[in-house]
This record gives sequence, C-alpha cells and structure tokens, in this order.
Amino acid sequence: MSEQFVHPGLKSSDGSLASHYDLGLLDLDGVVYRGKDPVENAVEGISAAVTDGMNISYTTNNSSRDQKTVAAQIASFGLTVTPEQIITSSIAAARMLSHHLPKGSRVLCIGAEHLRTEVRKLGFTLVDDVTEKPQAVIQGWHPQITWQELAQAAFAVEAGAQYFVTNRDLTIPREYGIAPGSGSLVRAVITATGVEPVASAGKPEAAMYDEMRSMYADEGYDLVPTELSLPVGDRLDTDIEAANRGGYDSLVVLTGVADPRQLMLAEPLQRPTYISQDLRGLAQTHHAPEHVGENRYRLGSMVAQYSQGSLIVASLDSAQWHDAISTDTGSSEGADGVRLSTSAGNVALHSLDALRAACALSWSLADRGIDMSSANLPHFASVLDE
Ligand SMILES: [Mg+2]
Repeated sequence: MSEQFVHPGLKSSDGSLASHYDLGLLDLDGVVYRGKDPVENAVEGISAAVTDGMNISYTTNNSSRDQKTVAAQIASFGLTVTPEQIITSSIAAARMLSHHLPKGSRVLCIGAEHLRTEVRKLGFTLVDDVTEKPQAVIQGWHPQITWQELAQAAFAVEAGAQYFVTNRDLTIPREYGIAPGSGSLVRAVITATGVEPVASAGKPEAAMYDEMRSMYADEGYDLVPTELSLPVGDRLDTDIEAANRGGYDSLVVLTGVADPRQLMLAEPLQRPTYISQDLRGLAQTHHAPEHVGENRYRLGSMVAQYSQGSLIVASLDSAQWHDAISTDTGSSEGADGVRLSTSAGNVALHSLDALRAACALSWSLADRGIDMSSANLPHFASVLDE
C-alpha cells in the first residue's frame, strides 16, 4: 500500500476542525491521558470541540481495559463521557469476527476477560480447547498468557480455524524496559503455523475507526461518513497510518510519541492532515502552507526554504530575513528578517506554523526523491506555540 499511497499534504480547514468534522476519534494514551493523569490542555480542547458541535469518541489499541474502566478515568478529569463513546481493540475485534462468521460459531479466545465478554456478547460460543473444534481463533493480550494457550491457538489454526488478532503492537514499554506486546506473541503463533492472521483490529488498520462509526449507527444515529470523521493521535505509525489506510483525514498532536523531526521525515502513509501542539487544535481553524516559490513554502509569517542540503525556517516579520534567503531568490518579500534557524543554528524554534511549513517543504522534497534524512533540518522546541 505504501508504494501507491499519495498523501494530499497539509490542508486548510473550513472553520474549526470541530465545526467541520462531525466525529472526533481520539486516541487516549499521549493524547487524552498519560498514565493516570490528563495530558495538558486535553480537557479544555475536548470541551471546546464539543461546544463547536463535534461528537467525541475514544479509540485505544489496549485490549485488556474495558469501556467502563476507561470511561471512569476520563470522567475523573471532569469530562462527560459514557462507556459507549469508547472503542477498544477487543470490541473492534469481536465486531470484526461477526463480519466473517455466523452467530453461534465456536471461537477459541485468548486474552483478557474484556475480550471474552465482547466475543460472547456478539453471540459466539467460547471454547478453550482445540478438541472442541473452534471455527475461529481470536488472540489478544493479557499478562497471564501461557504457553498452553498459545499452543491451543496454534493447534486450532493448523486445523483450519480462521485466525484473528486484536492488535499487532510488538512492544509494551514498562518500568524496566521494553516487554513483548501482543504482536510479538502473535508472531510466535505465525512462526509455529506458517499462517498469517485473517485480520487485525488494532491500529494501524482502520477497523477501529470504521467500527466506531458503525457503533454510532447501531444506536440509531446516521452513519457519519469517513470524510466527516477525524482520527486524532500521537503516533504516526499507528493512529495516523490507520487514518490514511482507511481514507480519513487526521490530526497529530505533539503531546505523546511524535516529534517535529519524525513529522518532517514521515513517509506518505504516516503523514497527518493537520498538526497541533495539543487537543486545543480541535477548536482551531487550520491553514495549509502555501507553495510560494522554488523549494519554498510559507504559512503566516513563517517561511521554509531548502537549498544545498539545508532546510531553514525564517520569519518574515523580523530582522535579517533577507540575509537568510536572498542569495538565490532576489525576493522582495519581507525586507528585514532574523534567521531563526539554519543548518548551523542551534536556536530552537517555537512556532507551530514554522513546523507546518517545514513539513510541507520536506514532504514535497522527499516525494521528488531527495533523501531528507540526511539533510540539515531545523531544530524545534519540545512545546510549540500557535
Ligand atoms: Mg497514543
């Protein structure tokens, strides 16, 4: 898919994102909360988005925490939320099963109680042993998973059961380091059987976004179309890639994993439609950087330009702008500018518009075959201002 995928670039929004898109599909960890605590400005951003008319839902690859537990945590921040606004990879996986198998089918289920409950809720019969002839295997993660369970999954898959998984995250960061995630245990079954899963519910697949929309429709609301739904996340390789795979626009926030350098170097399938510091971006109007000349993009007063292996960003407003870029342009724009960042500069940039302009430029150069990972890129501060 990545070879053919063409990203449309950063877009301008028609009013605030929350007034244009009917449904926000918010990732949780690194977006709404970090561990037990809310992410800075998340509550304010979500409240403003609701005021602008956006319905908010929450999506998580975590397959072991159920909707009520997650809803209680979000409510503890002072937000109004019902369990139905939350979709986990276990819920998406159970719904995925029902697209492939008739009700009453026997399903060998490995995972947390949450996954077992969701599979049972949709009318499947849970079995624990290959001798009960399961028609499908669904594999999630829980901390007490055993070799015996993985062996049963392998036996059933070898015997022809359809193989589904909640998510393929390879790692789980823990206090003492990186532990094997669900995807690592899925690989154990694949290695033993030579059989790949039929489908995975978790991001970077788009199933969770699609299933969340259909869950709202099941409750009697009109189905919100893909183009009026906005996935929001902190990871390019899961949240944003899932959006692109499913044909959704997306917003990335900088409160979690993604950082400015990753964004400037993102491959097409992992590029977002909008960039914000945090969830306050939902209630803001976004503007796309404009292509204003050879190897140059501009957004507001910020200009990004590339020459001789360096991508620089400068402000039109401040002194010595001319000095920064005049050599090959003869530009009459902005007479006196300060060079805010150059290949040799070590001043961190604080402007989000500068990052947006730098991304637009870097992506267009990468799409023309220039290796941006070896270019000098501007250095951004860890928190950026609108
Ligand atoms: Mg996250």
